[in-house]
Amino acid sequence: MDTSLVSWIKNTSRPFVIAGPCSIETEERTHQVITNLKAEGNTQLLRAGIWKPRTRPDSFEGIGEKGLPWLSEAAKNNELPFSVEVANAKHVEIALRYGADVLWIGARTTVNPFAVQEIADSLRGTTVPVMIKNPINPDLNLWIGAFERLQQAGLTDLVAIHRGFSVYKHDTYRNVPTWEIPIALKQELKDIPLICDPSHIAGRTDLLLEVSQKAMDLNYNGLMIETHPDPTLAWSDAKQQITAGSLTQLLNALVLRSNVMEQRSFEELDTFRKQVNALDCELFEILVKRMNISEEIGRFKKEHNITILQEEHWKKLLDSRLQMANELNLSNDFIRSVLDAIHLESITRQISVMNK
Ligand code: PEP
Ligand code: MN
Repeated sequence: MDTSLVSWIKNTSRPFVIAGPCSIETEERTHQVITNLKAEGNTQLLRAGIWKPRTRPDSFEGIGEKGLPWLSEAAKNNELPFSVEVANAKHVEIALRYGADVLWIGARTTVNPFAVQEIADSLRGTTVPVMIKNPINPDLNLWIGAFERLQQAGLTDLVAIHRGFSVYKHDTYRNVPTWEIPIALKQELKDIPLICDPSHIAGRTDLLLEVSQKAMDLNYNGLMIETHPDPTLAWSDAKQQITAGSLTQLLNALVLRSNVMEQRSFEELDTFRKQVNALDCELFEILVKRMNISEEIGRFKKEHNITILQEEHWKKLLDSRLQMANELNLSNDFIRSVLDAIHLESITRQISVMNK
């Protein structure tokens, strides 16, 4: 790589593609997948796990240092740079010794400030590009903190990878995307490119396109996608890996919308934005009226010595509102959170009236 990763990503037309196997398995498979990716011609940077942080100890925990010569040779033969996941200073030292062009910090490491600090200290004084995956728990500050630790060690070539957040059993995703967290990260760290890892969000191949499309619509810079010469044989994450050929199909199926607007569409969008502003003002005025009435109710309850929370009444109200929302095609989850917020504020207002 003869430029920084950040400027390379920014100067590449979207999506910047990072692909490769979840884990390096055998020498043959390493050469096979990298040759296939090269032949398809859409991968900019290779990814491969050498040390695998696995949830259960009886899973395949990575081939270790032994796989690095295979990876570096296959990458060199195909003139592609490669990235490796590191979780401690020893991994950093070994990966760099074998010529890794880029390092990445995995989700299970970003959660641990001791580990992130150790990696930052081991890289002090270098210009090695580092990609930082979001922590497994939905904690924006922990993710930002990892960037700060590396920045304070003098590293500037930093990239964010959104791989979703862990929840207990989910019908759709392996890791829920919670898109507002990476969007908030982008607002805090404006210059840092954002890559989406649909493989770990989806956990299954049939959802990869949908998640990748969403990332492109949110103006992400790139995608990190796990690829394997024969996913059915993969030693880790078999359900979510695809072949290099399927990666091409996926990329071809993406609809790439421009983030630069023509004058005409800008005017149209401006009209919509004005309408949204006006509606938000109306919403706020209604909320003020709503809260004034809550205060009246508070006064009434105080006068008549009635408790603020009337559970039966709240339950009935909630049921009828959710029914109404359903008829209006407003999603249950959305209306539930709006009503909970209104109810909480209403109770706070009533309490303050009672205590006067
Ligand atoms: C991986 O990229 O293979 C990996 C282990 O990912 P994550 O840290 O997102 O779980
Ligand atoms: Mn994986």
